[in-house]
Amino acid sequence: MISFVIVLVVAFAIYRFDKELKESYLYAGRVAAPLRSKVLPIPQAYRDILQKYFLYYRQLDDVAKTKFVQKVCQFIYGKRFIPRNVDQVTMEARVLIAATAVQLTFGLTDVYLQHFDKILVYPNDYYSSITKRYHKGEVNPRFGIIVLSWQSFVDGFIYPNDSINLGLHEMAHALRLENIIKNDEYQFFDEELVNEFDAYAQKLCHVENWNDTFFRPYACANEHEFFAVAVENFFERPHEFKNALPELYKILSKLLNQDPTLLRPLS
Ligand SMILES: [Zn+2]
Repeated sequence: MISFVIVLVVAFAIYRFDKELKESYLYAGRVAAPLRSKVLPIPQAYRDILQKYFLYYRQLDDVAKTKFVQKVCQFIYGKRFIPRNVDQVTMEARVLIAATAVQLTFGLTDVYLQHFDKILVYPNDYYSSITKRYHKGEVNPRFGIIVLSWQSFVDGFIYPNDSINLGLHEMAHALRLENIIKNDEYQFFDEELVNEFDAYAQKLCHVENWNDTFFRPYACANEHEFFAVAVENFFERPHEFKNALPELYKILSKLLNQDPTLLRPLS
């Protein structure tokens, strides 16, 4: 009996050691993401997926494309993609999710949403036992998690000009939070510009006919939603945004250090 217990204890200790070893190996891999993205060859499959599915990438010139895919690699190496109600997060899904974050941060140096190192992917909209509602996605700063419904994520790209894009929306939430979380990526936004942006949002959401403003009404739920909806419009219908709200467009363009109206139109 005693020997059986000893065997059991040893087996458990080996199991724990093996598990911890694997986890620390994966953790080390994530920490080394900047280095790995520079020294490892860029998988051709990543370039192919981006070229096939990702409009923003296709509008870049060759030099910018290489920079983009390198950033995609760094993002992927730095995150844990966790499948929920599905066997795995496919390579295609990982590349496209990473590409959405890179699109948003392409003008910012060394911003990879460091705090949000776990990406949970559900196949469809998922039920939350906390809110008792179905969700398409969310960002949880407490646990460093970004959650996405793959179906809604894909819808965002199937309809590229409707100014609804779940991936960009959730990444925008994460970006704004990342800016105020104290780590290596802390305060990459110019504080004055953020204040200008919020003041403009306040002004716009408090006019009498705010329902008729350029953004969908949900934008005025709070400053975080306003930012996320503005980001969706910034990338999905930049010319219309620039015409309708030129001042706000300019502020957001400065914050993100890029201007999508200058992207090369595809022939
Ligand atoms: Zn939101």
